[in-house]
Amino acid sequence: MHVASAYVQKPFQVSFQDVELRPPSLGEVLIDVLGCGICGYDMEMAEYLADKPQAFGHEIVGIVREVGEGVTHVAPGDQVVLESGSFCCDCADCRNGRVDLCAKGRNFWGESALGFSEAMIAPARAVVPAPDIDPMAAVLAEPCGVAIDMVVTAEIGLTDRVLVVGTGAIGLMALAIARHKTTGPVVAANRTPGRLEAAKRVGVDAVVALRETPLKKCGEPYGGFDKILITAPPQVIPDCITAAAYGAYIVYIGSDFGGGGVVPIDTHALHFGKKQLRSSFASPALYLPQALHMLRTSAVPAKEIVSHVFPLSKISEALRTVREERDTARKVVVVPDARFESEGSR
Ligand SMILES: [Zn+2]
Ligand SMILES: [Zn+2]
Repeated sequence: MHVASAYVQKPFQVSFQDVELRPPSLGEVLIDVLGCGICGYDMEMAEYLADKPQAFGHEIVGIVREVGEGVTHVAPGDQVVLESGSFCCDCADCRNGRVDLCAKGRNFWGESALGFSEAMIAPARAVVPAPDIDPMAAVLAEPCGVAIDMVVTAEIGLTDRVLVVGTGAIGLMALAIARHKTTGPVVAANRTPGRLEAAKRVGVDAVVALRETPLKKCGEPYGGFDKILITAPPQVIPDCITAAAYGAYIVYIGSDFGGGGVVPIDTHALHFGKKQLRSSFASPALYLPQALHMLRTSAVPAKEIVSHVFPLSKISEALRTVREERDTARKVVVVPDARFESEGSR
Protein backbone atom coordinates (compact mmCIF):
# COMPACT_ATOMS: atom_id res chain seq x y z
CA MET A 1 0.00 0.00 0.00
CA HIS A 2 1.03 3.59 -0.62
CA VAL A 3 0.83 6.18 2.16
CA ALA A 4 1.65 9.86 2.55
CA SER A 5 4.47 10.31 5.07
CA ALA A 6 5.80 13.62 6.41
CA TYR A 7 9.57 14.10 6.37
CA VAL A 8 11.45 16.78 8.28
CA GLN A 9 14.75 18.49 7.56
CA LYS A 10 16.40 21.33 9.44
CA PRO A 11 15.52 24.15 9.74
CA PHE A 12 11.79 23.43 9.98
CA GLN A 13 11.30 22.17 6.43
CA VAL A 14 8.59 19.58 5.96
CA SER A 15 7.96 17.59 2.79
CA PHE A 16 5.59 14.74 2.00
CA GLN A 17 6.74 11.52 0.40
CA ASP A 18 4.64 8.83 -1.18
CA VAL A 19 5.91 5.72 0.61
CA GLU A 20 5.20 2.14 -0.38
CA LEU A 21 4.71 -0.04 2.69
CA ARG A 22 5.60 -3.73 2.44
CA PRO A 23 3.20 -6.31 3.89
CA PRO A 24 4.20 -7.02 7.51
CA SER A 25 6.70 -9.85 7.71
CA LEU A 26 7.71 -12.10 10.61
CA GLY A 27 7.16 -10.30 13.92
CA GLU A 28 5.87 -7.10 12.33
CA VAL A 29 2.59 -5.21 12.57
CA LEU A 30 1.05 -2.86 9.99
CA ILE A 31 -0.75 -0.03 11.75
CA ASP A 32 -3.16 2.64 10.54
CA VAL A 33 -2.19 5.79 12.42
CA LEU A 34 -4.98 7.43 14.43
CA GLY A 35 -2.83 10.19 15.88
CA CYS A 36 0.72 11.18 16.77
CA GLY A 37 1.83 13.81 19.27
CA ILE A 38 4.60 16.32 18.62
CA CYS A 39 7.42 15.83 21.11
CA GLY A 40 10.20 18.21 22.13
CA TYR A 41 12.55 15.80 20.39
CA ASP A 42 10.68 16.31 17.10
CA MET A 43 11.31 20.03 17.53
CA GLU A 44 15.03 19.38 18.15
CA MET A 45 15.10 17.28 14.96
CA ALA A 46 13.39 20.05 13.00
CA GLU A 47 15.66 22.76 14.36
CA TYR A 48 19.07 21.11 14.72
CA LEU A 49 19.35 17.38 14.10
CA ALA A 50 17.79 16.37 10.76
CA ASP A 51 20.57 16.95 8.22
CA LYS A 52 18.56 15.26 5.50
CA PRO A 53 14.82 14.62 5.15
CA GLN A 54 13.70 11.92 7.56
CA ALA A 55 10.45 10.36 8.69
CA PHE A 56 9.44 11.35 12.23
CA GLY A 57 6.76 11.08 14.89
CA HIS A 58 7.02 8.57 17.76
CA GLU A 59 4.06 9.27 20.10
CA ILE A 60 1.68 7.02 18.25
CA VAL A 61 -1.81 5.58 18.63
CA GLY A 62 -3.25 3.46 15.83
CA ILE A 63 -5.35 0.52 14.75
CA VAL A 64 -3.79 -2.77 13.71
CA ARG A 65 -4.48 -3.36 10.02
CA GLU A 66 -2.48 -6.55 9.48
CA VAL A 67 -0.08 -8.72 11.48
CA GLY A 68 2.88 -10.72 10.24
CA GLU A 69 3.69 -14.31 11.10
CA GLY A 70 4.31 -15.02 14.78
CA VAL A 71 2.40 -12.02 16.13
CA THR A 72 -0.08 -13.26 18.72
CA HIS A 73 -0.73 -10.49 21.24
CA VAL A 74 -2.61 -8.16 18.88
CA ALA A 75 -4.95 -8.76 15.95
CA PRO A 76 -6.41 -6.66 13.10
CA GLY A 77 -8.85 -4.06 14.50
CA ASP A 78 -7.10 -3.69 17.87
CA GLN A 79 -6.29 -0.19 19.06
CA VAL A 80 -2.64 0.05 20.09
CA VAL A 81 0.04 2.47 21.22
CA LEU A 82 3.73 2.10 20.42
CA GLU A 83 6.85 2.00 22.57
CA SER A 84 9.43 4.35 21.10
CA GLY A 85 12.17 2.09 22.46
CA SER A 86 12.06 -1.46 23.77
CA PHE A 87 14.27 -3.78 25.77
CA CYS A 88 15.60 -6.97 24.20
CA CYS A 89 15.06 -9.67 26.92
CA ASP A 90 18.40 -11.32 26.08
CA CYS A 91 21.27 -9.11 27.24
CA ALA A 92 22.94 -9.06 30.66
CA ASP A 93 21.01 -5.97 31.77
CA CYS A 94 17.68 -7.57 30.87
CA ARG A 95 18.63 -10.86 32.56
CA ASN A 96 19.59 -8.90 35.68
CA GLY A 97 16.14 -7.33 35.77
CA ARG A 98 17.30 -3.91 34.58
CA VAL A 99 15.23 -3.72 31.42
CA ASP A 100 15.21 0.04 31.90
CA LEU A 101 18.89 0.07 30.91
CA CYS A 102 18.41 -1.83 27.65
CA ALA A 103 17.20 -0.23 24.44
CA LYS A 104 18.41 -3.03 22.18
CA GLY A 105 14.95 -4.37 21.36
CA ARG A 106 13.63 -4.06 17.82
CA ASN A 107 12.12 -0.64 17.19
CA PHE A 108 10.48 1.34 14.41
CA TRP A 109 13.19 3.99 14.00
CA GLY A 110 14.50 4.04 10.45
CA GLU A 111 11.23 2.91 8.84
CA SER A 112 10.21 4.97 5.81
CA ALA A 113 6.95 6.04 7.48
CA LEU A 114 6.57 6.86 11.19
CA GLY A 115 3.84 8.52 13.22
CA PHE A 116 3.36 11.52 10.97
CA SER A 117 1.96 9.37 8.20
CA GLU A 118 -1.23 7.49 7.35
CA ALA A 119 0.17 4.07 8.23
CA MET A 120 3.42 2.48 9.35
CA ILE A 121 5.14 -0.78 10.19
CA ALA A 122 6.36 -1.52 13.70
CA PRO A 123 7.95 -4.57 15.33
CA ALA A 124 5.49 -6.52 17.50
CA ARG A 125 7.69 -5.89 20.55
CA ALA A 126 6.88 -2.17 20.36
CA VAL A 127 3.12 -2.66 20.02
CA VAL A 128 1.06 -2.31 23.22
CA PRO A 129 -2.70 -3.04 23.28
CA ALA A 130 -4.74 0.06 24.21
CA PRO A 131 -8.41 -0.99 24.40
CA ASP A 132 -11.30 1.08 25.76
CA ILE A 133 -9.67 4.48 25.66
CA ASP A 134 -10.25 7.59 23.54
CA PRO A 135 -7.41 7.70 21.00
CA MET A 136 -6.82 11.37 21.87
CA ALA A 137 -6.02 10.19 25.40
CA ALA A 138 -4.08 7.08 24.34
CA VAL A 139 -1.86 9.27 22.15
CA LEU A 140 -0.35 10.58 25.40
CA ALA A 141 0.81 7.14 26.58
CA GLU A 142 4.42 7.49 25.43
CA PRO A 143 5.04 10.95 26.93
CA CYS A 144 3.06 9.88 30.03
CA GLY A 145 5.64 7.11 30.38
CA VAL A 146 8.27 9.86 30.42
CA ALA A 147 6.38 11.60 33.23
CA ILE A 148 6.08 8.30 35.14
CA ASP A 149 9.84 7.78 34.82
CA MET A 150 10.40 11.21 36.41
CA VAL A 151 8.07 10.41 39.31
CA VAL A 152 9.66 6.97 39.82
CA THR A 153 13.17 8.48 39.69
CA ALA A 154 12.15 11.12 42.26
CA GLU A 155 10.91 8.44 44.72
CA ILE A 156 8.13 10.72 45.91
CA GLY A 157 7.20 9.86 49.51
CA LEU A 158 3.85 10.03 51.29
CA THR A 159 4.20 13.55 52.68
CA ASP A 160 6.79 15.04 50.34
CA ARG A 161 6.62 18.67 49.31
CA VAL A 162 6.85 18.55 45.51
CA LEU A 163 7.71 21.23 42.97
CA VAL A 164 7.31 20.69 39.23
CA VAL A 165 9.16 23.25 37.12
CA GLY A 166 7.82 23.67 33.60
CA THR A 167 4.20 22.90 32.84
CA GLY A 168 4.20 21.66 29.28
CA ALA A 169 2.71 18.26 28.57
CA ILE A 170 5.30 16.27 30.55
CA GLY A 171 5.20 18.67 33.49
CA LEU A 172 1.40 18.63 33.63
CA MET A 173 1.31 14.84 33.56
CA ALA A 174 4.05 14.65 36.23
CA LEU A 175 1.97 17.03 38.38
CA ALA A 176 -1.12 14.86 38.00
CA ILE A 177 0.78 11.71 38.96
CA ALA A 178 2.64 13.42 41.83
CA ARG A 179 -0.75 14.55 43.16
CA HIS A 180 -1.60 10.86 43.64
CA LYS A 181 1.73 10.08 45.34
CA THR A 182 1.91 12.59 48.18
CA THR A 183 -0.34 14.25 50.74
CA GLY A 184 2.13 17.15 50.91
CA PRO A 185 1.91 20.30 48.81
CA VAL A 186 2.28 19.94 45.04
CA VAL A 187 3.38 23.19 43.42
CA ALA A 188 3.80 24.13 39.76
CA ALA A 189 6.20 26.81 38.48
CA ASN A 190 6.29 28.22 34.97
CA ARG A 191 7.15 31.43 33.16
CA THR A 192 3.99 31.78 31.10
CA PRO A 193 0.60 32.32 32.77
CA GLY A 194 -1.51 30.25 30.34
CA ARG A 195 0.32 27.10 31.27
CA LEU A 196 -0.18 27.81 34.97
CA GLU A 197 -3.93 27.95 34.36
CA ALA A 198 -3.67 24.45 32.90
CA ALA A 199 -1.72 23.35 35.98
CA LYS A 200 -4.52 24.64 38.22
CA ARG A 201 -7.04 22.60 36.26
CA VAL A 202 -4.89 19.49 36.60
CA GLY A 203 -5.00 20.00 40.36
CA VAL A 204 -2.15 21.57 42.31
CA ASP A 205 -1.96 23.31 45.69
CA ALA A 206 -0.24 26.42 44.36
CA VAL A 207 1.30 27.88 41.27
CA VAL A 208 4.39 30.08 41.03
CA ALA A 209 4.59 32.65 38.23
CA LEU A 210 8.31 32.83 37.58
CA ARG A 211 7.99 36.29 36.05
CA GLU A 212 7.00 37.53 39.52
CA THR A 213 8.66 35.14 41.97
CA PRO A 214 12.27 34.02 41.38
CA LEU A 215 12.60 30.24 41.19
CA LYS A 216 15.29 30.14 43.90
CA LYS A 217 12.87 31.75 46.39
CA CYS A 218 9.75 29.74 45.64
CA GLY A 219 10.56 27.03 48.20
CA GLU A 220 10.64 29.47 51.13
CA PRO A 221 6.94 29.24 52.12
CA TYR A 222 7.32 25.45 52.39
CA GLY A 223 10.73 25.21 54.04
CA GLY A 224 12.05 23.94 50.71
CA PHE A 225 10.87 21.11 48.49
CA ASP A 226 11.68 17.45 49.12
CA LYS A 227 11.33 16.51 45.46
CA ILE A 228 11.76 18.80 42.48
CA LEU A 229 10.90 17.59 38.99
CA ILE A 230 12.36 19.76 36.23
CA THR A 231 10.77 19.70 32.78
CA ALA A 232 12.32 23.01 31.74
CA PRO A 233 15.66 23.91 30.11
CA PRO A 234 18.75 22.80 32.09
CA GLN A 235 19.62 26.41 32.98
CA VAL A 236 17.07 26.31 35.83
CA ILE A 237 18.93 23.53 37.70
CA PRO A 238 21.07 25.85 39.91
CA ASP A 239 18.01 27.76 41.18
CA CYS A 240 16.22 24.47 41.82
CA ILE A 241 19.12 23.33 44.01
CA THR A 242 18.53 26.47 46.08
CA ALA A 243 14.77 25.85 46.28
CA ALA A 244 15.33 22.27 47.45
CA ALA A 245 15.10 21.19 51.10
CA TYR A 246 17.85 19.37 53.00
CA GLY A 247 18.01 15.83 51.62
CA ALA A 248 16.00 16.63 48.49
CA TYR A 249 16.10 14.80 45.17
CA ILE A 250 16.14 17.01 42.10
CA VAL A 251 15.16 15.13 38.94
CA TYR A 252 15.43 16.61 35.49
CA ILE A 253 14.79 15.84 31.90
CA GLY A 254 15.36 18.20 29.08
CA SER A 255 18.00 19.01 26.56
CA ASP A 256 19.24 22.12 24.84
CA PHE A 257 21.12 21.29 21.67
CA GLY A 258 21.50 25.02 21.12
CA GLY A 259 24.36 25.02 23.64
CA GLY A 260 22.48 25.41 26.92
CA GLY A 261 23.19 21.87 28.11
CA VAL A 262 26.28 22.85 30.13
CA VAL A 263 25.34 24.40 33.46
CA PRO A 264 27.54 25.40 36.46
CA ILE A 265 26.52 23.47 39.57
CA ASP A 266 27.26 24.47 43.19
CA THR A 267 28.56 21.12 44.40
CA HIS A 268 28.84 22.44 47.96
CA ALA A 269 25.11 23.17 47.96
CA LEU A 270 24.51 19.57 46.89
CA HIS A 271 27.00 18.03 49.31
CA PHE A 272 26.27 20.04 52.45
CA GLY A 273 22.57 20.06 51.63
CA LYS A 274 22.62 16.26 51.20
CA LYS A 275 20.81 16.85 47.92
CA GLN A 276 20.83 14.54 44.92
CA LEU A 277 20.65 15.60 41.30
CA ARG A 278 19.21 12.78 39.18
CA SER A 279 18.51 12.58 35.49
CA SER A 280 15.48 10.80 34.10
CA PHE A 281 15.67 9.25 30.65
CA ALA A 282 12.74 7.05 29.69
CA SER A 283 14.62 4.81 27.31
CA PRO A 284 13.24 2.31 26.56
CA ALA A 285 9.67 3.58 26.76
CA LEU A 286 8.47 1.60 29.76
CA TYR A 287 5.25 1.94 31.73
CA LEU A 288 2.80 2.17 28.82
CA PRO A 289 0.19 -0.11 30.50
CA GLN A 290 0.38 2.09 33.63
CA ALA A 291 0.21 5.22 31.50
CA LEU A 292 -2.87 3.90 29.68
CA HIS A 293 -4.53 3.09 33.00
CA MET A 294 -3.95 6.60 34.32
CA LEU A 295 -5.19 8.17 31.08
CA ARG A 296 -8.21 5.86 30.88
CA THR A 297 -9.26 6.73 34.44
CA SER A 298 -8.45 10.45 33.94
CA ALA A 299 -6.00 10.29 36.86
CA VAL A 300 -3.96 12.01 34.17
CA PRO A 301 -6.57 14.26 32.52
CA ALA A 302 -5.89 14.06 28.78
CA LYS A 303 -8.37 16.84 28.00
CA GLU A 304 -6.15 19.31 29.86
CA ILE A 305 -3.00 18.07 28.15
CA VAL A 306 -3.99 17.87 24.46
CA SER A 307 -4.41 21.50 23.39
CA HIS A 308 -4.44 21.30 19.57
CA VAL A 309 -5.25 18.75 16.87
CA PHE A 310 -4.07 19.33 13.28
CA PRO A 311 -4.58 17.31 10.10
CA LEU A 312 -1.41 15.72 8.72
CA SER A 313 -1.44 18.04 5.69
CA LYS A 314 -1.02 20.99 8.09
CA ILE A 315 1.88 19.55 10.06
CA SER A 316 4.03 22.62 9.32
CA GLU A 317 1.40 24.74 11.04
CA ALA A 318 1.34 22.26 13.92
CA LEU A 319 5.13 22.57 14.37
CA ARG A 320 4.85 26.37 14.22
CA THR A 321 2.17 26.27 16.92
CA VAL A 322 4.46 24.28 19.23
CA ARG A 323 7.29 26.71 18.60
CA GLU A 324 5.46 30.03 18.76
CA GLU A 325 2.44 29.58 20.99
CA ARG A 326 4.24 28.55 24.12
CA ASP A 327 1.54 29.86 26.41
CA THR A 328 -1.32 27.85 24.95
CA ALA A 329 0.27 24.87 23.19
CA ARG A 330 0.59 21.91 25.50
CA LYS A 331 0.42 18.64 23.52
CA VAL A 332 -0.19 19.20 19.83
CA VAL A 333 -1.49 16.10 18.03
CA VAL A 334 -1.44 15.39 14.29
CA VAL A 335 -4.04 13.05 12.75
CA PRO A 336 -4.36 11.74 9.18
CA ASP A 337 -6.59 14.04 7.10
CA ALA A 338 -9.37 11.49 6.45
CA ARG A 339 -9.78 10.96 10.18
CA PHE A 340 -9.54 14.69 10.92
CA GLU A 341 -12.35 15.38 8.42
CA SER A 342 -14.57 12.63 9.84
CA GLU A 343 -14.18 13.71 13.48
CA GLY A 344 -13.53 17.44 13.14
CA SER A 345 -11.07 19.59 15.05
CA ARG A 346 -11.45 20.31 18.74
ZN1 LIG B 1 8.47 11.90 22.77
ZN1 LIG C 1 18.42 -6.28 26.80
